[in-house]
Amino acid sequence: MGLGIKKGDTVAVLAGKEKGKKGRIVSVLPGKGKVIVEKINIIKRHTKPSKTHEQGGIIEKEGPIHASNVMLVCPKCGARTKTAALVQAGGGKLRVCKKCKEVID
Ligand SMILES: [Zn+2]
Repeated sequence: MGLGIKKGDTVAVLAGKEKGKKGRIVSVLPGKGKVIVEKINIIKRHTKPSKTHEQGGIIEKEGPIHASNVMLVCPKCGARTKTAALVQAGGGKLRVCKKCKEVID
């Protein structure tokens, strides 16, 4: 799955009501092609009283958004970018920013 983004990356939202916002990826759902981004697409969920939440109430939680709606923000140059894969001699892969050509990780 070539999302090009992974947990811990900072991404910019490209579409939807939160377009232009930035956040950190807290989870990638590869099977669905979706990601969960910190503080983006907050869904309010009503809960019934339980042992852990005696009062019940409203839980705010990030909902998944499609990976095509976000773009990596390069930690080196700060631009919204795609990454290229740099194959190392040992067989590992590094991600390289297509804008500044710096190795991201
Ligand atoms: Zn860059």
